[in-house]
Amino acid sequence: MKRIVILGGGVGGTLTANLLARKLRRSIDRGEAEIVVIDAQGAHVYQPGFMYIAMGGEREAKLTKPERALLDQRVRLMVGTVTSVDPTAQHVTLDNGEVIAYDQLVLATGARILPESIEHFEAEAHHFYTAEAARRLRVALDAFKGGRVVIGIASMPYKCPPAPLEVAFLIEAELRERGLRDKSTVDYCSPIGRAFTIESVSEMATPILAEKGIELHTFFNVETIDAERKVVQSLEGEELPYDLLILVPPHKGQQFLMDSGLAPAPGGWLPTDRHTLRVGGRPNIYALGDATDLPLSKAGSTAHFEAPVVTEQVAAAVLGREAKGKHASYAGNVMCFFEVGDGKGTLLRFDYDHPPKPPKPNQFWHLGKIIFNKTYFHTVPKGRV
Ligand SMILES: Cc1cc2nc3c(=O)[nH]c(=O)nc-3n(C[C@H](O)[C@H](O)[C@H](O)COP(=O)(O)OP(=O)(O)OC[C@H]3O[C@@H](n4cnc5c(N)ncnc54)[C@H](O)[C@@H]3O)c2cc1C
Repeated sequence: MKRIVILGGGVGGTLTANLLARKLRRSIDRGEAEIVVIDAQGAHVYQPGFMYIAMGGEREAKLTKPERALLDQRVRLMVGTVTSVDPTAQHVTLDNGEVIAYDQLVLATGARILPESIEHFEAEAHHFYTAEAARRLRVALDAFKGGRVVIGIASMPYKCPPAPLEVAFLIEAELRERGLRDKSTVDYCSPIGRAFTIESVSEMATPILAEKGIELHTFFNVETIDAERKVVQSLEGEELPYDLLILVPPHKGQQFLMDSGLAPAPGGWLPTDRHTLRVGGRPNIYALGDATDLPLSKAGSTAHFEAPVVTEQVAAAVLGREAKGKHASYAGNVMCFFEVGDGKGTLLRFDYDHPPKPPKPNQFWHLGKIIFNKTYFHTVPKGRV
């Protein structure tokens, strides 16, 4: 009997488990294969909804579903925190001491946020990378009566690259609607030399920033927050005073992957083959989603497109054949909706060889994002789209 162990019940882990259950149905029913998902929370969280909590349009209760309800009945779910992987002995260990052996291992443990790694971050800066932080940001926005809003990114990489720009556009629109725009400035800080990592997206977003009177500060990597003076300082030596500071917190991969020697420090991202999604050249370990070191957006959409490839690779190994078909190799596909405020959005669709050509922002893509958010639990994790 071959056991496939999947660590993480987020977008990547859940979808891979369900696709594998479909592909290996006969082997599972004959007792020749088993799929085990191990997740720390036993709950699946739709993180893109956090941004809408902060913007006042979403409730936390709508963003979480029990993981069991999303998994094919052929998949076994274990709720527990994995503390180590031993790739030589081919087993993982849980925090209760339980040891689970695997034949094939899929790492879909996402990213960690570390606001505490910047002094004064937690007391001074807001963010929307957890439901709780997003709720606090909403309270702060409701209390805001005008002043200096500074939005930035503490360091790269981080989840959902468009998110901070989207928040800047949405907050600027909200300030206008509330009659506070004349009493406010909005500054956007990018750690690199342009507004967005991908040039074509930067070319689309930069004129929108200018049109909305949002000042762009490039090469702004957050170094310190001076809580007394209410000033954020960059590594490059620029200082920006703020009344409301919103920063994407620093991100890293999971500590246990670093401790297990699978993901190098300091980032903790898994060295992943860009086509096979195999980790560190090992024949039976795969990664997808935010946990990888691939030079792509850390996005649910990335995990969504990677899952069929991991499924095909793992199924091929279990069935003793070569990976085949259109999902034998990952081409770097990503597709993300991008809000620009005022009920408009655009779409970023790209792969390793084709950069995005975002259409002119319009209502259609904004509505596309809203509908996608509302239907997510019925579609993506279950492999229906
Ligand atoms: C504010 C915000 C907005 C976003 N907007 C978008 C968007 O518009 N479009 C988009 O495509 N993406 C968006 N994303 C990104 C998207 O949510 C992530 O990229 C996606 O969830 C990654 O999927 P994953 O499976 O890699 O990890 P996750 O979905 O984070 O799942 C990881 C799972 O691993 C589990 N885990 C971690 N460590 C352990 C352990 N030691 N033991 C057991 N289990 C463990 C966790 O409990 C979790 O369930 C957004 C994210 C945020 C925060």
